[in-house]
Amino acid sequence: MSRLVIDNAAVSTVDDAGTEYVGGHVVVEGERIVALGEGPAPREPGDAYLDAAGCLVTPGLVNTHHHLYQWATRGYAQDATLFEWLVTLYPVWGRLDAEITGAAAAAGIGRLALTGCTTVADHHYVFPRDGGDQVTALIDAANRIGPRLHLVRGSMDRGVSLGGLPPDRIVEDTESALLATEAAIRAHHDASANARIQIAVGPCSPFSVTRELMTGAAELARRTGVRLHTHLAETLDEQEQCQREFGRTPVEYAEELGWLGPDVWLGHGIHLNAEAIGRIGATDTGVAHCPTSNGRLGAGLAPVAELLAAGVGVGLGADGAASNESGGLAEEMHQALLLARLRGGPTALSARQALWMATAGGARCLGRAADLGSLRVGALADLAVWRLDGFAHAGIADPVAALVFGPPAPLHLLLVGGKTVVADNELRTADDAELAEALRKASSRLAEGRS
Ligand SMILES: [Zn+2]
Repeated sequence: MSRLVIDNAAVSTVDDAGTEYVGGHVVVEGERIVALGEGPAPREPGDAYLDAAGCLVTPGLVNTHHHLYQWATRGYAQDATLFEWLVTLYPVWGRLDAEITGAAAAAGIGRLALTGCTTVADHHYVFPRDGGDQVTALIDAANRIGPRLHLVRGSMDRGVSLGGLPPDRIVEDTESALLATEAAIRAHHDASANARIQIAVGPCSPFSVTRELMTGAAELARRTGVRLHTHLAETLDEQEQCQREFGRTPVEYAEELGWLGPDVWLGHGIHLNAEAIGRIGATDTGVAHCPTSNGRLGAGLAPVAELLAAGVGVGLGADGAASNESGGLAEEMHQALLLARLRGGPTALSARQALWMATAGGARCLGRAADLGSLRVGALADLAVWRLDGFAHAGIADPVAALVFGPPAPLHLLLVGGKTVVADNELRTADDAELAEALRKASSRLAEGRS
């Protein structure tokens, strides 16, 4: 089996002890890590060799919340609240089809890979009736570009006629949504330790679906052994609606529906009181923190320090590109640091905690902590080799500080299961110009309303 030796690098393993090496090595054989440590690497004849002097090796980053189709609808509703933004975008998203979603996903995953991402959780919840097979389009895009995909088969069953926000033509009826989700699980979910594709169950949010869909989804996920994901506690508007309709906070409502637990991770988790944080921690529910999107929509400052103190597995998410036009993942570490400190002062979050959320915390949200999110012997070889020797980073003595406090770092190498996805800061699995051309066509078809 082919071996790759990465040598002379700073290494931040993000293991449970926070082990770091100043001048270390990582050896990859096939799809897994077979050695790592301080000092020069043990070498064998025939090894491929990468001299990574001036670089930092970290686990590949895990994106715990995204909507890849939105890469084709960036720049809309620039000064809107979440609810206003949704009402503007739903009719545009109503024109989605498999070709548009595939083009948006390929470009979006390409951008994520160039920012260190090796696993992406994509929450896809818009299924227009004539939209074709978007699930397969998303899986094909991930297989083409290279990162692992946790496809959250989303759904909405509460259109305008039932008091929801989306137009009726882009919502499904409850039973059809559950049947289509089960079909996606049966067709595509891989429960193996080295899975490239997993499926999760994800009604869009409590305010866009019925109680029956939330409880039916929880029952389906537990019957088939997959995970649950939804948006929760993102805005004050949502909190007010929850109180008005259900007489409960979003977290109380989620718990009543069976939606807290170690197999659930929640998108956002901004408007949480101390009691809600305690319940999320006590039930081992994960939270996907999306700082750039929260800033773009002015949604609020998530209580990340309090969640971490309560033992919650917090991961990072880029969120959909319609509320984060940059769409990169490494920069979410930087943003998370700043937002946490705006809320709680300069000790609220450290650079290493931000890196932990982007890697080990994310893997925990997705149920992959045994194989992803930290560098250990036997772990899958999903790793990023960041160049920190250019003038943008040189002179910052602490490499983790350079990565998180500093400007976005170029990638020397990005591996997913030992396979090269990015080298010399270029995507090696797809042609940039082809991705851009397909994306331009997809975006203009949506904007012009042609089908
Ligand atoms: Zn979202």
